[in-house]
Amino acid sequence: NRRVVLAARPRGLPTSTHFRIEETAVPTPGEGQVLLRTLSLSLDPYMRPMMNEVPPAYADASVAVGAPMVGGTVNRVVASRNPSFRVGDLVLGNAGWQDYALSDGQDLVALGEMQQPSLALGVLGMPGFTAHVGLLDIGEPKAGETVVVAAATGAVGAVVGQVAKLKGARVVGIAGGADKCRYAVEVLGFDVCLDRREPKLAERLAAACPRGIDVYFENVGGEVFEAVVPLLNHHARVPLCGTIASYNEDAPPPGPNLLPKVMSVFQTKRVRAQGFIILDHYGARYDAFRRDMDAWVAEGRVKLLEDTVDGLENAPGAFIGMLQGKNVGKLVVRVSEG
Ligand code: NDP
Repeated sequence: NRRVVLAARPRGLPTSTHFRIEETAVPTPGEGQVLLRTLSLSLDPYMRPMMNEVPPAYADASVAVGAPMVGGTVNRVVASRNPSFRVGDLVLGNAGWQDYALSDGQDLVALGEMQQPSLALGVLGMPGFTAHVGLLDIGEPKAGETVVVAAATGAVGAVVGQVAKLKGARVVGIAGGADKCRYAVEVLGFDVCLDRREPKLAERLAAACPRGIDVYFENVGGEVFEAVVPLLNHHARVPLCGTIASYNEDAPPPGPNLLPKVMSVFQTKRVRAQGFIILDHYGARYDAFRRDMDAWVAEGRVKLLEDTVDGLENAPGAFIGMLQGKNVGKLVVRVSEG
């Protein structure tokens, strides 16, 4: 049983020295438990704040030094002492960065048979659900409005942009690199996509949004947010989903303090910004998401975009790459064929 543990807490961008691969015995399930074999591991931005000493506000504790990294997984049940699960069942679990894990079944969701089970970690799972709730319940895009989303070819952003198009909005994406931008326009159907690595983002965004911005789906923060604020329309909506641009920062950025200006724009333009954590919404909203998304995917109206890396040993490198924008689409590690 291989597992990737947190070897040391990073300051700034993690490196391979912050992870360690260990071999341990395959655990034996006790009464009421199942033994899970990991087929696919989801790599997500929230894992970076979970490496810090102080956990993010939505978590009780961060990952302890020496403990396996946390993460959502698709698993096969390989031994069961829990009457609700049988050997061979395919489940969505939280096994983390390891080959095998035990569960009491409480956190498992049966997947039935799926042709491409890893989709349960992406467009049909947590990131897709995040896009659906954030965009539709908080963003409330209307036909003809302008929606802006960054990390536009990422797990959440690619779905946000495609769903906003389905609702008749004009969609402006922002992504890191010309290839990603071309993909967003030519394959995902965005109206425009701007490369955040090129100079003069604020000017290019203003030119791309001649009627201002009605919905800004916030995935990144930082320079992109600064470019967006002056363009927000009266009564704009801002679903606050994440701020990945700051996840590796341990000091405030240099330069002028923009907070008073931002506060003033939000107040005088009656902007509605709302943070959300997707964990809160499973009970009330999950079924509606799956009804919509299953149909959109089946009809080809939402395209799948998955970035697969082979081998658990490559999880640290792929994760560090994601924090630098190297992934295109939902980043998933294929751990075993199972
Ligand atoms: P992605 O698949 O979008 O991967 C992360 C992407 O972020 C990178 O590919 C890169 O894309 C972009 N990025 C990295 N650094 C920067 C930077 N400094 N400035 C701008 N962009 C950067 O990840 P997800 O779709 O899984 O997550 C997107 C956001 O949604 C994250 O902030 C995440 O924390 C948040 N989230 C929040 C949830 C909630 O419950 N609120 C649930 C799930 C996700 P590029 O180079 O193309 O810009």
